[in-house]
Amino acid sequence: MTGHAPLIIVVNMRPSILFPLFAETRTLPGIGPRLEKLIAQVAGKRLVDLIFDLPTGVIDRSYRPKLIAAEAGRIATVLVNVLDNLPPRDRRQPYRVRCSDDTATIELVFFHAHADYLNKTLPAGAKRLISGRIERFNNRLQMPHPDYVVPPEQDSELPLHEPVYALTEGLPGKSLAKAVRGALEKVPPALPEWQEPFHLKAQGWSPFAEALRKAHTPAHEAELAPTTPERLRLAYDELLANQLALILIRAHMRAAKGRVLKGDGHLKTKALGALAFALTEAQEQALAEIETDMASSARMLRLLQGDVGAGKTVVAMLALLGAVEAGAQGALMAPTEILARQHMAALQPMAEAAGVRMALLTGRERGPQREATLAALAKCEIDILVGTHALFSEDVAFRDLGLAVVDEQHRFGVHQRLTLQGKGEKMVDVLVMTATPIPRTLALTAYGDMDVSRLHSRPPGRKPVETRVLPSERLGEVVEHLRKAIATGARAYWVCPLVAESEKIDLAAAEERAVELKTALGPKVGLVHGKMKPAERDAAMAKFKNGELAILVATTVIEVGVDVPEATIMVVEHAERFGLAQLHQLRGRVGRGAKKSSCLLVYQPPLGETAKARLKTLRETDDGFVIAEEDLRLRGPGELLGTRQSGQVEFRMADLAAHGELLAAARDDAKLILSRDPDLKSPRGEALRVLLYLFGRDEAVRYLRAG
Ligand code: ADP
Ligand code: MG
Repeated sequence: MTGHAPLIIVVNMRPSILFPLFAETRTLPGIGPRLEKLIAQVAGKRLVDLIFDLPTGVIDRSYRPKLIAAEAGRIATVLVNVLDNLPPRDRRQPYRVRCSDDTATIELVFFHAHADYLNKTLPAGAKRLISGRIERFNNRLQMPHPDYVVPPEQDSELPLHEPVYALTEGLPGKSLAKAVRGALEKVPPALPEWQEPFHLKAQGWSPFAEALRKAHTPAHEAELAPTTPERLRLAYDELLANQLALILIRAHMRAAKGRVLKGDGHLKTKALGALAFALTEAQEQALAEIETDMASSARMLRLLQGDVGAGKTVVAMLALLGAVEAGAQGALMAPTEILARQHMAALQPMAEAAGVRMALLTGRERGPQREATLAALAKCEIDILVGTHALFSEDVAFRDLGLAVVDEQHRFGVHQRLTLQGKGEKMVDVLVMTATPIPRTLALTAYGDMDVSRLHSRPPGRKPVETRVLPSERLGEVVEHLRKAIATGARAYWVCPLVAESEKIDLAAAEERAVELKTALGPKVGLVHGKMKPAERDAAMAKFKNGELAILVATTVIEVGVDVPEATIMVVEHAERFGLAQLHQLRGRVGRGAKKSSCLLVYQPPLGETAKARLKTLRETDDGFVIAEEDLRLRGPGELLGTRQSGQVEFRMADLAAHGELLAAARDDAKLILSRDPDLKSPRGEALRVLLYLFGRDEAVRYLRAG
């Protein structure tokens, strides 16, 4: 016996009780490669994805009329006698089966039918229970492709109420429903309960498996609402998993020791002296919050939120100068090349006034120039490096990076944030700037691992942008307005939703529009769109900036930031197709200079209720945070964030627009749970681990010390 304690390596792994649910869908009977692929498109690859794919509708088969009284258009279930089979005379004709009850006759109609099969299932003289949609054609009753044909003794097999799931082309509803049922059968009956029993009781909530089963078997439309006890329970489970995960990830991020970056203010003072303005109170406060974080030994992870033009970049620059004062280097990463250059140009005067060395590094800096920048960076001859994601490529080595600022503009740069952390510079303080005014509930779920500073007010002197909403019939007037305006030297953006080739729908294509406007208004019309090469796009933008172009027709690419203070008119075509936040961002492109600006939102009638509400909100307020809350209410979070982009904010059970209060409760609950049981080791903690895995928060579990 030696005195060594045995070395035990414990790895957190998915609990075996969940294995059946994490099997792939193809392990279900009847699911081959083709169905698997289609199901993956609508739900996912694993059974767990199927159980979380809740129905969006319900078919009620309880309507059982006599044929004579059967209403066309309704789903009906009728007991009939099969009279005869009428095979088609040629292949284009349908196969018909005549049936009757004691009141009337009905024809079952099958296109592309297999005659043998129909003969067998519907032999003349047999009694059958049929269920499907009743149609009336030339005053004759028909049922095209009945959903069910069963012998009367199998009545009990015919579902009274059938859930309807969102489908994709080629995926039969029945196949998906069957797959979901198969997946539900695999939900382990002995899952531990992760919610407090008294909480369940107080809310009137069922155990997880039962809630799930009920959510998949609605009997009425009303049972599809996000507020049924089943859906509330499932939403709460998901939100709790989300909040637990965020707290765990956050604790982990912060456990990495940050450095103390405490400047003495000498560079900041010089830079401020070079500005023609004083910081607003909101800016002062945000900067103070950032400086406090930087000066602490914990690592900073802070989000700076504020509309375009709210003054975030100035604040970020002052924070970077603080890092330089403390003897470290700083980095500022922009989402696009144009923005990186713009930041560089805008911040150069401050850097010069402070005597700080700043350099630019994007994908376009290559060869000797790039080499020189990298060498200088390594020797600490560059204090602040501005650039695109090229800043974080393998060969870029800072001598001593202390603060990284990531300007996300309107994208959720979860990925950028992760690369940055993955680079091994654990000590780097991180400040993320975003111009997406995110509602509190979303900030909590998307950026819950960060602290938030908000710039509510805008710098003084900004005139509000006059916003007008007009129908497309009045496009001619808009063009005349532009003609007068550009004659006096004005500059205008004209935004179209999509490029011609990308959609068949009749959209006012940017390309066509540019040609038309050129014809009407002369050669000072340019075009930028998403399919252009970046260099071409930059060139067009530059021409607009220097005035060679008076009108810039654009797809939404201009959303991702150009700063042209001379632009005073923003025309948005098909405004009804844009989201509220998007329109707000577009409007933010004008009203940046001294002159009065206007935003013309042109819509294609008729205007739906939601679109109407959106445009009204926009006319009434220009507070990005108010607009964001309204947007969440009108659209729901998925759309708001562009679920596909956001990666992290994917809720399947929770609907943040409807479950905001649940989120707040889940957050408090999660805090309390982890304060008592930080590594989730108690019996309930064990159950909560299962919950985390169930909702795919594996990353968070990995940060727990294993029991
Ligand atoms: P954001 O990064 O939030 O889009 P910027 O920091 O680029 O905003 O500021 C937008 C414009 O407003 C810039 O031209 C900037 O110089 C100016 N600005 C910033 N802060 C103030 C202020 N306190 N007073 C006046 N102008 C300001
Ligand atoms: Mg720090």
